[in-house]
Amino acid sequence: AQDVTYKVSARHVPDAGALICFEDVTHMEQAVQMRRDFVANVSHELRTPLTALMGFVETLRGPAREDAAARERFLGIMQREANRMNRLVGDLLSLSHVESEERVRPTARVDLCGLVRSTSHSLAPLAEDAGVTLMLDLPENGFDIAGDSDQLRQVLINLTENAIKYSGRGSTVMMSVTSPVYQPRLRSDGTQLTVRDTGLGIDAIHIPRLTERFYRADSHRSREMGGTGLGLAIVKHIINRHRGRMRITSEKGQGTTVTVLLPIG
Ligand code: ADP
Repeated sequence: AQDVTYKVSARHVPDAGALICFEDVTHMEQAVQMRRDFVANVSHELRTPLTALMGFVETLRGPAREDAAARERFLGIMQREANRMNRLVGDLLSLSHVESEERVRPTARVDLCGLVRSTSHSLAPLAEDAGVTLMLDLPENGFDIAGDSDQLRQVLINLTENAIKYSGRGSTVMMSVTSPVYQPRLRSDGTQLTVRDTGLGIDAIHIPRLTERFYRADSHRSREMGGTGLGLAIVKHIINRHRGRMRITSEKGQGTTVTVLLPIG
């Protein structure tokens, strides 16, 4: 059973008695609670690197003042923490942008395979550093879909960065696109974009919640890899805006596959 919240009001009605009104405000209450949770999460996520920065400033002005090696090390940590805050603010801005635009359908024509190729080039250095092989499987003939090219690039980057981040050395990440055919789930012609890795995999209990803001299946690794916990929330909103569908399947220790269905027109 689910908790239901009612707002009750009573009014005197002349000659008839009283009118008592029960209004179901469960959804409003939930929205207010989600907003509160979000603000608390953002504050926490920003405060953690900020506290580290403040601590190191103090140390640099005091005990580490004359120690060049320690100074260098602390400055490195401070840079990393500042980068983390920067990424978080960038992701928060992206999220608020895609959320506010969700009802407007993008109509520009985008060469999806070209976008996959250029994204894979941009991510090649990251994959190489991580010891991960990045592969492409694209149809011979390219095609255009209706979309927003910056946002679709963001989808490709977020999914592929995750696949690289959550895979060990020696694993493979495959980005693939299929030729457009009728997609029953979309009730229109569409293409299937897939990012598959042979990495750590995700426990089934986490999968339904991965697109929630700040939800992490592996908190330690996410933070270690500089994750903000917002990547899949951003992806979900962009795909909704494109009237697409996303599915995540995974097996612990075997790897993860994210499949995105996108309508063509
Ligand atoms: P993050 O910035 O933490 O990577 P995301 O929203 O992009 O945030 O992903 C949410 C969580 O989903 C991650 O913290 C990670 O636990 C899990 N995850 C996402 N993609 C993968 C993947 N390819 N393999 C394993 N776990 C993944």
